[in-house]
Amino acid sequence: MEIFEKAERLKKLPPYLFKEIDRKKAAVMAKGVDIIDLGVGDPDLPTPPHIIEALNRAVNDPANHRYPSYSGMGGFKETVAQWYGERFGVDLDPQTEVVSLIGSKEGIAHFPLAFINPGDVALVPTPAYPVYNIATLFAGGESFFMPLLSENRFLPDLDAIPNEIASRARVMFINYPNNPTSAVADPEFFSRVVEFAKENGIVVCHDAAYTEMAFDGYRPHSFLEIEGAKEVGLEFHSLSKTYNMTGWRIGFAVGNPEAIEGLGAIKSNIDSGVFQAVQMAGIEAIRGDQSCVKEMIEVYTRRRDLMVKGLADAGFELESPKATFYLWVKVPEGYTSSGLATRLLEDTGIVVTPGNGFGEPGEGFFRIALTQKRERLSEAIERIKAISL
Ligand SMILES: *Cc1c(COP(=O)(O)O)cnc(C)c1O
Repeated sequence: MEIFEKAERLKKLPPYLFKEIDRKKAAVMAKGVDIIDLGVGDPDLPTPPHIIEALNRAVNDPANHRYPSYSGMGGFKETVAQWYGERFGVDLDPQTEVVSLIGSKEGIAHFPLAFINPGDVALVPTPAYPVYNIATLFAGGESFFMPLLSENRFLPDLDAIPNEIASRARVMFINYPNNPTSAVADPEFFSRVVEFAKENGIVVCHDAAYTEMAFDGYRPHSFLEIEGAKEVGLEFHSLSKTYNMTGWRIGFAVGNPEAIEGLGAIKSNIDSGVFQAVQMAGIEAIRGDQSCVKEMIEVYTRRRDLMVKGLADAGFELESPKATFYLWVKVPEGYTSSGLATRLLEDTGIVVTPGNGFGEPGEGFFRIALTQKRERLSEAIERIKAISL
């Protein structure tokens, strides 16, 4: 055997479908083209200054230089619990129903190790954030994919899950407001998920990264607001998108105490918690002045309106999203998702994400992230209008 022969779990990784577009992007950049990157879901806006100041204060206190508590600082967990009460009307015990995470991706990626045995099934949406499927595979589980289709408003059809699969399933992942489709879920859908989970003995993992990024007064729901939800599930949350803190690596999971305990047990054997100074900054983010969130929403609302109108004028078919900073746009007749992404890249210098990269039912769509200033978005619209598709 080769010394560096990779483990089966790495060999079995699904192909990275953005490889081709990444390679083409590098080639176009090498030619010196002025690229407008609407590909990545990473806020371009800086972290608000009062949060940075809180970090600066905390970093100068030697008490914060030591190993943090594995499950999170008491103050951070209390802050999260209090916020859940105020924002969603959900009661949480900060000791047993909250755990801090090194970004929600970390928690989502580790969760299956606590609840999935080799051969167990996880119900995974598609198209989706890739971590749900890959974390399942790393735990030795099998993903059963639930297609998110436009005719179902991008909600999974629970009745389409075969009984034999439902009885083997241990975990279900859902994510609303949704990346990449920008769809939102109503409490009725969440209620059906609770019922389904109870009937089949399934842990529900709701990825709630975008609940605070919503427009026109719409307020997304927490899964945990639903009667009985805490008996079957937990919710992953993040400061990344709400406070432009993707680089800081802080998030949290909340919900069923047994689920939180299982996740915490995995984590305490792998990592040693979140740098306390970052948790102090997190407390300031959640408890401090929220006008930065309001401003963030205003910025994305203006960008969304500009881009939705521009794309519609250019002949594209799309809905104006109620939440998230993504547009999920239909590919025009005669193109595949990757064909269109390649055409836009090579003929206009605009990077978009082909929908099939998030899973096969994403074919026929592409995703735009509103992570560029309005002048750049206007420029992108001008360039798109100048070519004939
Ligand atoms: C951005 C994002 C996250 C957040 O990841 P962090 O690790 O908290 O930065 C989680 N889920 C989805 C669907 C996302 O798009």
